[in-house]
Amino acid sequence: MKAITVLGSTGSIGTQTLAIVEEFPERFRVVALTAGNNLDLLIEQIRRHRPEVVALADGERLEELRQRLEALEPSARPARQPELLAGSDGLCAAAAWPSADLVVTGIVGCAGLLPTLAAIGAGKDLALANKETLIAAGPVVLPALEASGSRLLPADSEHSAIFQCLQGTPWAESARLSTGVPTPGLRRLQLTASGGAFRDWAAADLHKATVADATSHPNWSMGRKITVDSATLMNKGLEVIEAHYLFGLDYDHIEIVIHPQSIIHSMVELDDSSVLAQLGWPDMKLPILYCLSWPERQATPWRRLDLTEVGQLTFRAPDRAKYPCMELAYAAGRAGGTMPAAMNAANEQAVALFLEERIHFLDIPRLIERVCDRHRVDLTTSPSLADVLAVDAWAREAVREAAATLSTSTPTPLLA
Ligand code: NAD
Ligand code: MG
Repeated sequence: MKAITVLGSTGSIGTQTLAIVEEFPERFRVVALTAGNNLDLLIEQIRRHRPEVVALADGERLEELRQRLEALEPSARPARQPELLAGSDGLCAAAAWPSADLVVTGIVGCAGLLPTLAAIGAGKDLALANKETLIAAGPVVLPALEASGSRLLPADSEHSAIFQCLQGTPWAESARLSTGVPTPGLRRLQLTASGGAFRDWAAADLHKATVADATSHPNWSMGRKITVDSATLMNKGLEVIEAHYLFGLDYDHIEIVIHPQSIIHSMVELDDSSVLAQLGWPDMKLPILYCLSWPERQATPWRRLDLTEVGQLTFRAPDRAKYPCMELAYAAGRAGGTMPAAMNAANEQAVALFLEERIHFLDIPRLIERVCDRHRVDLTTSPSLADVLAVDAWAREAVREAAATLSTSTPTPLLA
């Protein structure tokens, strides 16, 4: 029985993790939950999973949570109320909770950084969904993993595919899961991308993209931020940096290929030129389950892949002019140091402004580029945690300042 902590339990990753725990109660149990501010769902999760501890990011609502738990009908109330914590310290304490074996990081954005480091500091294995943490703070997270012996199991579907393909290679046998050290025998990674909401739009029409357009993903059902990141292809750019830190390859050997069906979740090319791929329906439950069950495979009754039903698998190179965020991510990854932190924070802030309808879709890459250009002179090559946090805060403010100077009229089309 594996004891699981779920950071961001009320989100897309969090709820899917809890659904897996409910489906395999003999294998997994929940010991700790953290959430932002969705009390209705959190209370339902506490009722069903009876965690030992719960941490709420929004400390102002802690008293409300306490009162609502105490007001539950006796039959609905957990026999023992969980310990209730709040704020950043509370999230970190829950992330480091002693009885947990594995921590699923389902918080969105760099807000997950301190809880992730707390889990690593406590020696917990991680199921990494919260990619922004590794991207912003790779130079801090990797040495922390090395020092604590925590293992980083990728929950992102592409990285899970690569991880699965590498089982059986000398790399996996040495159990070096996340060291930033090149994986022996691995020559190239190909990350597949659905192409996001605008894959069938002409680049010249993207200036008309609305929030409703950008938040409807053709293949995957996910949180709003990552859905917009998929529409800009920033998500794939972030995943390139994530793959660099997880598998140690340089950026010239990590490629993106558009695969509209989202059946092949990524591919690895080995030194002898053999290419291995992992296939499945586009459903995050499988990569999450693999993190939970690894190194074992848990038998499931889930819908089996039928390639005759899929019919065709197609592939094409991404259109670099249509997706400037992809190039910005490669450039930030290659620059290294604090540049990925600046880029990631600029993206988080720009996407938030877009979701509030305060900037246009095409302003997202323009703002990120401006902030990365400004950061170049201040780049720190071997940053500390304090450096990363300072750059993160600076980049958000820089985006807000730059956004205030933008014209509110529709921006010029990308290729005009
Ligand atoms: P989501 O928006 O659905 O959920 C985010 C969770 O984090 C919620 O529980 C929310 O309450 C919590 N949260 C938000 N802001 C917080 C803060 N400041 N402090 C503490 N908690 C906070 O997001 P999601 O789609 O589940 O994505 C979570 C992470 O997983 C992201 O990093 C995303 O890139 C990654 N990911 C998601 C998917 C997916 O299918 N959803 C796939 C691959 C990777
Ligand atoms: Mg992914």
